[in-house]
Amino acid sequence: MNATKAFESKEDVGHYIGGSVVNPKDGRFADVFNPAKGSIARRVALASRNEVDAAVAVAQKAFDSWSQTSPLRRARILFKYLELLNTHRDELAAIITSEHGKVFTDAQGEVTRGIEILEFATAAPELLKGDYTEQVSTDIDNWVMRQPLGVVAGITPFNFPVMVPMWMFPLAIACGNTFVLKPSPTDPSASLYMAKLLKEAGLPDGVFNVVQGDKEAVDALIENPDVKAISFVGSTPIANYIYERCAHFGKRSQALGGAKNHMVIMPDADIDKAIDALVGAAYGSAGERCMAISVAVLVGDVADKIMPKLIERAKSLKIKNGMELDAEMGPIVTKAALERITGYIESGVAAGAKLLVDGRGFKAPGNENGFFLGGTLFDNVTPDMKIYLEEIFGPVLSCVRVANFTDALNLVNACEYGNGVACFTSDGNIAREFARRVQVGMVGINVPIPVPMAWHGFGGWKKSLFGDMHAYGKEGVRFYTKQKSVMQRWPESIAKGAEFVMPTSK
Ligand code: NAD
Repeated sequence: MNATKAFESKEDVGHYIGGSVVNPKDGRFADVFNPAKGSIARRVALASRNEVDAAVAVAQKAFDSWSQTSPLRRARILFKYLELLNTHRDELAAIITSEHGKVFTDAQGEVTRGIEILEFATAAPELLKGDYTEQVSTDIDNWVMRQPLGVVAGITPFNFPVMVPMWMFPLAIACGNTFVLKPSPTDPSASLYMAKLLKEAGLPDGVFNVVQGDKEAVDALIENPDVKAISFVGSTPIANYIYERCAHFGKRSQALGGAKNHMVIMPDADIDKAIDALVGAAYGSAGERCMAISVAVLVGDVADKIMPKLIERAKSLKIKNGMELDAEMGPIVTKAALERITGYIESGVAAGAKLLVDGRGFKAPGNENGFFLGGTLFDNVTPDMKIYLEEIFGPVLSCVRVANFTDALNLVNACEYGNGVACFTSDGNIAREFARRVQVGMVGINVPIPVPMAWHGFGGWKKSLFGDMHAYGKEGVRFYTKQKSVMQRWPESIAKGAEFVMPTSK
């Protein structure tokens, strides 16, 4: 049964510049797939440097009036956009499912998480309020305000084609910037749908633009002097590259990278709840979430207690076209990703890990050509194995057995990634010590995927984030604004002569 009308457009996906869709006739294109069917659905244009520069010029022009629009007026447009997104949530979710493959209900959840950031951004007038000190020195007042940067850009990954752009642009434009989005070419259609709704909400042309593309577009954005800041979310090597290149050009950046998230299960945990949490967090969205759990750290005798049930659950996942409402897991995003993940499974077997559930060769009835892979479960994984060390980004769960809490904590802390982590326990002291001592940016205690809410900000540690500020929340407001401090005196015009010592409060 279909949840809503599937998205089946065959038209090329173009750019969105200055309030209009731009469909290039020539230039470079990439294929966009329907992963459930395994077939080419449409093409996406890949912007040239000139096309990117043209979009930035339009955004730069729009900045003049948008930055002068009062925060309340900007917020009113976002309120209208919020209303439209709520109305059209299912169309957007269907677009996500058709190009990404994740199940429709999960795609609806993705849109909702994006909406929450928008709700936060509608508080722009409050968020942008400055600080003020009357009489900071005799007859002098000092205030600090936050002003927009100019044109800012967002470069986003395939796995959240709506939510991750919405970590960025609602706040960026609420703060008075104009925005150029460079979505993943793997699932580009949602970006144009969001642009269409923004226009309907009354956003002035040029404030939000989309350039589809690949490395050429990314490099053009980084090198364009009118782009004042770059927000990036994607894999660690590219995040590192973005951060270094932006530093080279003296440009502000926040670059969120890959992950290897652990879930520690203590012997005192509620085992059934832990299994439910683990199955959802490891196999939900086919493991293609930066907060997916890819390593279960089983402490003491936990492995023996949970393994039979875990095997059963991994084997019985409902894997099918995500548009079928009872689907628990959809296909892998592309054939290349499927082959990469299969390669990791082979490497795990070769390294001596115990393959308890093998998802290779899985065929979804009715969608035999789709890029499907079954849930895969390894036991006896050790920290020297490639499947432990590297981000697989697929439905492959590695179980590592450790003797005690200290060994579990040390294992997590030795990992080069530090995005998310979870600890399942019923011991308050263990929970507290874990949260305090773990070297990871986002921690869940009996919560498998601790993605912070809109007003708290999202960000990992170590190789999961390059830059100083997390995405969204108050950190997002700081990222998209620069501080200006004004000191003002309206004296009675009595000249006292120049002062040569450092001014201090008098
Ligand atoms: P990716 O790094 O391949 O692509 C991300 C973006 O960078 C895309 O827009 C892509 O077009 C662009 N890009 C790709 N190669 C490039 C290159 N050589 N030079 C310049 N730009 C390039 O990532 P992906 O496969 O789309 O997404 C999955 C990755 O994103 C995973 O590693 C996942 O952990 C990570 N991710 C992280 C977070 C987080 O918050 N930390 C959130 C979502 C996804």
